[in-house]
Amino acid sequence: MNIRVGLGFDLHRLEEGRPCILGGITFDHPKGPMGHSDGDAVLHAISDALLGAAGLDDLGTLFPDTDPKWSGVDSASLLSEVVHRLGEGGWSLVNLDVVIATEGPRIAPQRAKMRARLGELLHATTDAINVKGKTFEGMGALAGGTGVAVQAVCLISKS
Ligand code: MG
Repeated sequence: MNIRVGLGFDLHRLEEGRPCILGGITFDHPKGPMGHSDGDAVLHAISDALLGAAGLDDLGTLFPDTDPKWSGVDSASLLSEVVHRLGEGGWSLVNLDVVIATEGPRIAPQRAKMRARLGELLHATTDAINVKGKTFEGMGALAGGTGVAVQAVCLISKS
């Protein structure tokens, strides 16, 4: 069996009045991620992890933020395209693990819902997908809820 590991990272500023969409879930929170797309840093980090594992370039190259076509796009549709491209190469997901670091919104109450949504988008069972929320402990530039940082690691396989 051919197996590959991929790592993704993304960072978005949180701004007042933006819808707060993370991991394909809408949070009830006064600030949301800024971005050319909907700013879903979780789906972006996951997409980059998958693309990296498969050796398929990266999200910014496939869907450039200079192209108006991707303005305000639902990041779930970008991830679905990534999943499609991996499938074309014969790759399937073994497992995915994600860390979401932010001082708001709280991730824990929505973890189960997010894992289920990610399972739908990735055609995977929930036990193959994990999500954890962390805070910055009030330290550094992202303290005070100014942003969200996400790390994702995945394993993919092809027989
Ligand atoms: Mg991004």
